[in-house]
Amino acid sequence: MTDNFDLEHIWHPYTSMTQPLPTFKVKRAYGATIELDDGRTLIDGMSSWWCAIHGYNHPDLNQAVTDQLQNMSHIMFGGLTHDPAIELGKILLKITPPSLDKIFYADSGSVAVEVALKMAVQFWTAQDKPQKTNFITTRSGYHGDTWNAMSVCDPVTGMHQIFGTSLPNRIFVAAPQTKFHEEWNPQDIAELEQAIQQNHEHLAALIIEPIVQGAGGMRFYHPEYLRQAKALCEQYNLLLIFDEIATGFGRTGKLFAWEHAQVEPDIMCIGKGLTGGYMTLSATLTTKHVAETISRGEAGVFMHGPTFMANPLACAVALKSTQLLIEQDWQANIERIEQQLTQYLTPLNQLDYVADVRVLGAIGVVELTVNVDMKTLQQQFVDRGIWIRPFGKLVYVMPPYVITSQELSYLLEQLVEVVKTMQGVH
Ligand code: PMP
Repeated sequence: MTDNFDLEHIWHPYTSMTQPLPTFKVKRAYGATIELDDGRTLIDGMSSWWCAIHGYNHPDLNQAVTDQLQNMSHIMFGGLTHDPAIELGKILLKITPPSLDKIFYADSGSVAVEVALKMAVQFWTAQDKPQKTNFITTRSGYHGDTWNAMSVCDPVTGMHQIFGTSLPNRIFVAAPQTKFHEEWNPQDIAELEQAIQQNHEHLAALIIEPIVQGAGGMRFYHPEYLRQAKALCEQYNLLLIFDEIATGFGRTGKLFAWEHAQVEPDIMCIGKGLTGGYMTLSATLTTKHVAETISRGEAGVFMHGPTFMANPLACAVALKSTQLLIEQDWQANIERIEQQLTQYLTPLNQLDYVADVRVLGAIGVVELTVNVDMKTLQQQFVDRGIWIRPFGKLVYVMPPYVITSQELSYLLEQLVEVVKTMQGVH
């Protein structure tokens, strides 16, 4: 099944080049279906890591790309601009927190995070506070694979512990403990409060994934944490950065996860589902106040400008994808998926090797008591006609929103069967 050239020469995410995990060659994908080279079809439970919210090969998104191709696929953004960037910007300002007013387009989620961190540092430097350069964050977070994004990932579960002391030293506090549906425990904020009190003179910002901590553990926490964190940031002069790269575009049941808490950040990163999974694009949004302060600083400008900034093809498809999402009754659709996830996954709680089952919006998580054997499990899923990529102790799904109820039932029935018959975990 695995292609030999691929096996010998091409690196895949987080894989060894001497003992690579098998890969499955894909011929095409459409709707919620992935078709393999050998003709087998898989129902997709991953949305290509949160991205393909409208499924694959969507006619409207294909059309948006084709139309844009007739004009230009790319043009530099220094000194030039174009309608796809402008129209996308207008719609983004309508759907993101009202206080956000300025948009910086970048190429990937990690770069959006780098941009956010740089904005925060420039914001304080511009106010003669050059010592405010560090960041505080919670454990179990994940913000990307580039250097400074890595530095604010959980030092252990964030997959970057190998870089150890070569990374800038950030301040970490415990991950929020009160779960999304539990009663708020006021003690939950104590460690953050103490750490901010002690370190605020050197802190530019708090960076956090609102409500859902994704790749660092797939944890759903209480909205009150964000309300109190915001109050602390205001009290001690820290900017608040929300990383909504995974949580954005309806995935948690709200268009963006900040809405669960009604807390507005100073800076917000979006990506992944932004283009409906068609190509890479991200954006870092900020307030007028932050942007104007940066612009008043000694540099007078914001120091970032990637080659493919605001790529027109990506902006055109992002515009269409976002229109497509908000023009439909997406809330009802996410609720449909949420109900089905809850119905099928909750009974797995009874297994002694299942530590927790949790569902929020179109995200379903089964947390085991031990690490999964990814290779075996993935093969079993493929043999049963579904695409799920577990990691660590987590078997989780976040299907494309276009998945039909029948497809979702099939996906979940197979997932449940595989988890129930797992070898080596009893
Ligand atoms: N932030 C979060 C919350 C993410 O989930 C990810 C990707 N998993 C990133 C940042 C990094 O995005 P990218 O892979 O596009 O660089």
